[in-house]
Amino acid sequence: MVLDTATLRIAFGLMALVLVFLFYFSAYRTTRSPYSGWWCLALIFFLSGSACFLLDRTPHQVWANPLGNVLLVHGGIAVWAGARSLRTVPPIKWAFSGIPLVTLIASVVDNPATNTWSGGPVFLAAMGLTVGLASRELWRLEPGYSRVRIPMAVAAGGLSAFYFLRWAAFMVEGQNGPTFTTVFGSAVTTLVTMVLLVVVSFSMAALSSEQQTRALRVVASRDDLTGLLNRKAFLDLAAEQVADRTITRGSGTLILADLDHFKSVNDTYGHAAGDVALQSFADACTATVRTTDLVARYGGEEFVLLLPGTTAERAETVAEEISRRLAAAPAAEGMEMPTASYGISAYDAGTTDVDELIAAADGALYNAKSLGRNRVARSDRMG
Ligand code: GH3
Ligand code: MG
Ligand code: MG
Repeated sequence: MVLDTATLRIAFGLMALVLVFLFYFSAYRTTRSPYSGWWCLALIFFLSGSACFLLDRTPHQVWANPLGNVLLVHGGIAVWAGARSLRTVPPIKWAFSGIPLVTLIASVVDNPATNTWSGGPVFLAAMGLTVGLASRELWRLEPGYSRVRIPMAVAAGGLSAFYFLRWAAFMVEGQNGPTFTTVFGSAVTTLVTMVLLVVVSFSMAALSSEQQTRALRVVASRDDLTGLLNRKAFLDLAAEQVADRTITRGSGTLILADLDHFKSVNDTYGHAAGDVALQSFADACTATVRTTDLVARYGGEEFVLLLPGTTAERAETVAEEISRRLAAAPAAEGMEMPTASYGISAYDAGTTDVDELIAAADGALYNAKSLGRNRVARSDRMG
């Protein structure tokens, strides 16, 4: 059976067109994620680039052949940019203009009117390079990033290797060589690309929905005024930490903090100024603790911190440091930042209940308030 390249290209074009529509409406329109946008763009480039090659051996070949090369290379670059966007790094600008420009020049000077492989070696190398770089980006994502990370990296790596092998065959035996025309001919390439486009489109769709779920989870776990964890997220995460004996032998401290006379801050300077004070306190907390500690807005003007592996002495120092930072925080003209009171409770390997830990810290906080506020008190129920 001889697979006729022109028919295959039309089939490929139809398939890519269907994928663009499916992908645009199912993934991009709903998620607006950058990589699904890049993937739509890549499909459009692959589609239009292949369409150009349908004009080979017609009077239009002189412009269509170089244009086809340039469009397909743009497709490779869009795949690479999409993979980079998963790591939230921007595309590399010089590559975007440089690689297609080199391909264009190589194609235009290589007799595009008569040569259906004008600029062939540069085009093949550019495709291998851009798709290979996409594969590298995917490998560099953290292993737990997505269940489709490996299939996508393998698909991109395989396609890149395929293009480099074609390049090698082209360099060794030329465009009419037996290996290049049979093993790496346009018919085989079109088939390989078709299969990979389906794999990658499927994976991309899965990735979009995974990403959306992840984004929703982040939104649902954050307090929108301060950006800290909210109460529920804190309770869930703290329960995990306290129960996990492998983290610093299951011991640590919890700090409950409450801003002093906060009602009068609102009354005196207004609710907006109160919000600024809450944000400053949140910033003071995050600036003081380690990134592995948990900091949350427990509610209103109350905050809670979990410091695994920390002693009560150290927690006291942390609380004092937070107050120091809050006092130094910039405030509106004439406004004085409130002070804060803290209650500290400690846990050890025997503790399993976060609620008890919070209740103990709350008792200590009550003492700090009764003793005159702007101070730290430890729970007497501490081991
Ligand atoms: P104490 O020193 O005993 O803690 O006194 P307090 O005034 O801080 O305590 P109280 O519980 O009486 O008042 C808490 C105030 O916090 C009342 C409420 O309006 C204010 N508050 C709670 N949430 C917010 C918020 O999101 N923004 C602002 N600006 N104020 C808030
Ligand atoms: Mg309060
Ligand atoms: Mg208060």
